[in-house]
Amino acid sequence: MELSGKTVIITGASSGIGKAAALLFAAEGANVVLGARRAAPLESVAGQINQTGGHAAFLCGDVRDEGYAEALVALAVETFGGLDGAFNNAGTVGDLGPVADMTLGAWNDVIGANLTSAFLAAKAQLPALLKQGKGSIVFNASFVGFSNGGLPGMAAYAASKAGMIGLTQSLASDHAAAGVRVNALLPGGTITPAGGEDNPEFLEMIANLHPMRRMAVAEEIAQAALFLLSDRSSFMTGSPMIVDGGMSVRLL
Ligand code: NAP
Repeated sequence: MELSGKTVIITGASSGIGKAAALLFAAEGANVVLGARRAAPLESVAGQINQTGGHAAFLCGDVRDEGYAEALVALAVETFGGLDGAFNNAGTVGDLGPVADMTLGAWNDVIGANLTSAFLAAKAQLPALLKQGKGSIVFNASFVGFSNGGLPGMAAYAASKAGMIGLTQSLASDHAAAGVRVNALLPGGTITPAGGEDNPEFLEMIANLHPMRRMAVAEEIAQAALFLLSDRSSFMTGSPMIVDGGMSVRLL
């Protein structure tokens, strides 16, 4: 098993990519510490893991809250004795639209949930990882942070995801010698609630933008996160890993 005995935090585990990652990482032997705001779906994912022989703890909260980032690390240490990695996945597209019409509040919502949360997660997680001289942090960014590709109204989302890639590279450079790896995952369109799973016309339109003529299923993105968290990627750090069905080839 790829994550046998490792303890991993997964944010945004109540839904979509984070839920798929929680189930996959637990099946690969990880003790998982799950985060999201909604209690019922988060408890359900943790229950599913614990009822099938896995090990999951969960804590509800908002990733924009510094205390919540610290509490997830504390829960990992108290419940499972330490921390080996994190998939900082929670995020939001926010309100789409041109910047001229965007309120500062709408901008701050997206930057807060995606980029500031990544800073807070790293700040809380690094001391535990540096203490043991080994660990892997993975941020879930997006292909949009690499090449917007002309998609309209994505300014705040694109800026937040591009910022996450810059943060990833700086953290990787700062902590590589200490044994902590930091990488970003750049998914293409993925069928999830945020990815429009209830809107067939939107799904078809997004699918057709990809050279593969389909969107990813959440498990495909979770597999890529698993690779970055596992020792199979032991020589990777600071990498923006693109998993996008060829979208960026088409765009660049
Ligand atoms: P999703 O199904 O809507 O899941 C988003 C998750 O993030 C939920 O579990 C949500 O839980 C949590 N979350 C959102 N804001 C939060 C906050 N402020 N505090 C705590 N938890 C929060 O969406 P998804 O598609 O799986 O997205 C997961 C990540 O993948 C996001 O970062 C997204 O930008 C990225 N991504 C998605 C796609 C795509 O096409 N789907 C493509 C590229 C990148 P609660 O609502 O319970 O808090």
